[in-house]
Amino acid sequence: MTERTLAIVKPDGVIQKKVGEIIRRIERKGYDIIDIKMVQADEALLRAHYAELADRPFFPGLMHYMMEHPVVAIVVEGDNVIKGWRTLMGLTNPTEAAPGTIRGDFGRDWPGDEVRNVVHGSDSPESAQHEIKLWFPELNN
Ligand code: UDP
Repeated sequence: MTERTLAIVKPDGVIQKKVGEIIRRIERKGYDIIDIKMVQADEALLRAHYAELADRPFFPGLMHYMMEHPVVAIVVEGDNVIKGWRTLMGLTNPTEAAPGTIRGDFGRDWPGDEVRNVVHGSDSPESAQHEIKLWFPELNN
């Protein structure tokens, strides 16, 4: 089934100059890039994006991490892309993510509490729709 997901290259991915490599992996898998832009996320956008994590102890660190550098937001389309993009990303914790996945290859142990794991991907059709609207309000088809 053709669907869309929101992919984000997080601050550590941009700082490590992995944007091109990550786009290459998206295209190699046969997915289409529908829209793409660089965004300096602010607190309001991130609070809406990570609303379900607001009570978690790592939330302040996550906000700080996501605002420390502009990110690249990408709307990706393809057959079963929501699950497929998460497979390309790998597990949340880079130390557990398999080699060959983006997080396994480029995620790192960082000093401090927050997990720095290079990329984001929507985890369901509902969150994909919600997140694409949040990050790309100008995209209406
Ligand atoms: N996160 C964190 N510490 C944790 C769990 C998550 O810093 O113990 C951060 C991490 O950047 C992660 C994001 O919060 O990617 C969202 O967490 P989620 O559980 O939704 O993982 P994801 O869907 O990104 O794999």
